[in-house]
Amino acid sequence: MSSLSQGLKPSHLWKHFEQILKIPHCSGNEKALGDYIVSTAERLNLSWKRDKIGNVVVAKKATPGHDKAESVILQGHMDMVCEKNSDVVHDFSQDAIKAEIKGEWAQAKGTTLGSDNGIGLASSLAVMEDMSLVHGPLEFLFTVDEETGLTGANKIESSFLKGKKLLNLDSEDEGAFTIGCAGGADSEINFPLKRKTRSGQELYRLKIHGLRGGHSGLDINQGRANAIKLLARMLWQALKKFSFELVRMEGGNKRNAIPREAWADLLLEPDQIQDLSIFLRKAFEKIQFEHKAVEKQAKFSFEKSDGEKESALTPETQANLVSFLLSLPHGVIAMHPEIKELVETSTNLAIIHTFQDHAQIICSSRSSVASSLEAIRNAIAALCELGKATVTQPEGYPGWTPNLHSPLLKTLKEVYKKTFQKEPEVVAVHAGLECGIIGEKFPGMDMVSFGPTIEHPHSPEERIHIGSVEKFWKFLAAVLSELAA
Ligand SMILES: [Zn+2]
Repeated sequence: MSSLSQGLKPSHLWKHFEQILKIPHCSGNEKALGDYIVSTAERLNLSWKRDKIGNVVVAKKATPGHDKAESVILQGHMDMVCEKNSDVVHDFSQDAIKAEIKGEWAQAKGTTLGSDNGIGLASSLAVMEDMSLVHGPLEFLFTVDEETGLTGANKIESSFLKGKKLLNLDSEDEGAFTIGCAGGADSEINFPLKRKTRSGQELYRLKIHGLRGGHSGLDINQGRANAIKLLARMLWQALKKFSFELVRMEGGNKRNAIPREAWADLLLEPDQIQDLSIFLRKAFEKIQFEHKAVEKQAKFSFEKSDGEKESALTPETQANLVSFLLSLPHGVIAMHPEIKELVETSTNLAIIHTFQDHAQIICSSRSSVASSLEAIRNAIAALCELGKATVTQPEGYPGWTPNLHSPLLKTLKEVYKKTFQKEPEVVAVHAGLECGIIGEKFPGMDMVSFGPTIEHPHSPEERIHIGSVEKFWKFLAAVLSELAA
């Protein structure tokens, strides 16, 4: 009987990973995996705790002679994103993930593999088990539900952990250390709409579609267009030359996605249709030219609409709404001054829905610096004051401000260089990570995130580079030993 882990090194790490593959553990369903971790701790005579939400922490005493060393936390998340190809029969609530080796990589058969973050957990379990390693006092933190809301990290009590140094094992690029992430928070705008009885005869729909969209953090610096902004821009130009009545507007559907589509229904007189249509097409051609490198599929249409057309916005309301949308910030606000290519602050004009008496507009903003996040939200609130709109700004989640002078980072860089005769890369991400929340809950926690190379996480193409796992393990062992000195 052959198995995935046969012949792979280190064997105890792969053996635990293979066990993890057998235990269903989609987000929100981590109980059985938590049980496996607890039973492993008990078998090894290690003490453990589990909180109400399901986070588990296991403690392991220092190697004899190293109990004076500072305590180190190894952390990973228990849940995985469960995605499969439509032609694959797989029940994530009970079936084991079927994995195979393809060349230098391990991957699942048509489903996500869960190496994000199963391989991080497996390495923690291997460290728990391995008596040949040299280390100081260790804590192993296993959190629930990272993927859908960072819930586990959010619910950790401050008494749950003792250590002040944390190695997060949830990065996906061997040789790169992650030292920062963005915090995020939304602005929910209520823009009042005044309506009147309509006078225009024909209802036409102006639609922008076919844009690439993407993640509002990770893709915000990719030059992708925002359908709501393009629509507002075309309407603003058209309103200067034509008289029509705006009936409704819709765009975007997810707070954390760049809007790919937006449309507006306009009432107008039959004799205007041709001129307006030509005008809009010309305006769109300029937009297309501007975005030709990135938005190759961008499309525009201006066609008869069968939408409801009982009332229209008053001339003042429609002008204000269009100006407001055109003025709302979108995109990269600031790049990090020291870390190359890292977006520090950004905002995404994510959604607009119009109702009878108001428009709902959602902006989602991100920054790795708390005060910069506040500043961009203040700018949105100030525009709302000018535009006579009201805004609600619920508390968001915290960022993790990169600390290029972190002592832990310094040690890791030295160990990496000594082990592989190569400089590691130091990066940060423009999206939320558990370290942001952990750092806020445990002030002064020194954290670095690293891991083996994983490609296409969260999709059925997810795969992990086998050689990078061995390298990652070698590095982890060297780091633990150095931190125990
Ligand atoms: Zn992850």
